[in-house]
This record gives sequence, C-alpha cells and structure tokens, in this order.
Amino acid sequence: MTTITSRCPHCQSLNRLPVERIEANPSCGRCKRSYYKALLLKELKRIYPY
Ligand SMILES: [Zn+2]
Repeated sequence: MTTITSRCPHCQSLNRLPVERIEANPSCGRCKRSYYKALLLKELKRIYPY
C-alpha cells in the first residue's frame, strides 16, 4: 500500500495516509477533522511528480 505523509491543515500533526483514501476524503488521526482533498492531491504531486 502506498502512503503519503501529510501535515493536517487544522492541527498541524503529521499523518500517514494511504493514497487510496484520498478520494474518500480521509480525516486526521488526531483531531478527526477532514483533510482537504485539494491539499492531499498537491502533496501527492510533490512526492510523486507525474
Ligand atoms: Zn488534525
């Protein structure tokens, strides 16, 4: 499973998220708030440039 490490836009904690979950709008493991999908896609492109 491919994961990306992303900083939560709400509480600034680092979360490891499976790439597959991005489409499902995952939530932060710490504050339980939803990630912004756009932010995750940006993060994904930074790590895996097309
Ligand atoms: Zn959070």
